[in-house]
Amino acid sequence: MKSNSWQDLVATATLDTQTSRPNISIIIPVYNEEENLENLQARISEILEEIKIDYEIIYVDDGSRDNSFMLLEKLAKKDSRIKLIKFRKNHGQTAAMSAAIDVAQGEIIIPLDADLQNDPRDIPNLLDKIAEGYDVVSGWRRARQDTFITRKLPSMMANRLISSVTGVYLHDYGCSLKAYRADIVKNVRLYGEMHRFIPAFCALEGARVTEIPVNHHPRVAGKSKYGLSRIVKVFLDLMVVKFLGDYAKRPIHVFGTIGLILCFGASLAGVATLYDKFIHEVYVHRNPLILLAVFLFLVGVQFIMVGLIAELIIRTYHESQGKKTYTIAKTVNLPSNSNP
Ligand code: UDP
Ligand code: MG
Repeated sequence: MKSNSWQDLVATATLDTQTSRPNISIIIPVYNEEENLENLQARISEILEEIKIDYEIIYVDDGSRDNSFMLLEKLAKKDSRIKLIKFRKNHGQTAAMSAAIDVAQGEIIIPLDADLQNDPRDIPNLLDKIAEGYDVVSGWRRARQDTFITRKLPSMMANRLISSVTGVYLHDYGCSLKAYRADIVKNVRLYGEMHRFIPAFCALEGARVTEIPVNHHPRVAGKSKYGLSRIVKVFLDLMVVKFLGDYAKRPIHVFGTIGLILCFGASLAGVATLYDKFIHEVYVHRNPLILLAVFLFLVGVQFIMVGLIAELIIRTYHESQGKKTYTIAKTVNLPSNSNP
């Protein structure tokens, strides 16, 4: 037997069964996937029974308009480890994942798509990596079964860009199949369509992130829920991620720096105006540089003001919700509630 494998996780699971806490939580967003659900459930439980791990499967019905939820209820009736959340309307894959992460009880959380494009047989490999000490293991669809021009090419470019901007180098941010240590991923708050950036957010919290190749199958039933518009969204989201990563706790540094640079430009233009006046005898009101000086100064001051307001906002954000500006991995000889 390999050391550091999922078998070790199973061994520690015996402790957890006393508190009936499952060892892993599989989370699955579902939006109009009626053709896939039974098959999916069969494949997941087959592999999980095989590796004899304690588990729960949380399906989130994201406002499906087909029979998805009815089918899920049927599955849940047969097995209490299958847990369901039903949204009143479609909130998107990110919200669905958040809802599942919030209620998940497992130590390790593994998201999976409902469309059978991910292969549950990769789960033991992900768990092996977690057992090696990683907090996040990202699936990499090395042989991705999607169209090249509309899917694989934009995704390849997006992954390069995201990796270089965030400094977390992964080949496949878009692959849903990943494994997260629950204590890390539960700290990540997700908005919009940010589920793609979870590994980057986890890395910001100090997580150890790695990746392994996983299988990928073509979608055989149901339709993909995304079009090309996601390219723009990913790009904009990336700007938010970069900003949050670098400056969320000190916004005045970014706004203030821009503001000061603009004010410096304003002073240069102002000095040039005075120079023209006293040396070349150009009337100030005839010199366009004065306009530049005033314009840069006003915009610069605005930037600094926005930075100050952002500083107020982050204080409200952290203090009103009792959020800490840090995360603690472990404490020694301190009461456990000093851990946020
Ligand atoms: N999904 C969802 N809500 C949405 C869109 C998608 O819950 O608004 C689910 C969908 O049912 C699937 C997963 O998210 O389980 C990934 O969606 P899809 O397969 O359409 O994405 P693709 O593989 O084409 O990128
Ligand atoms: Mg898919």
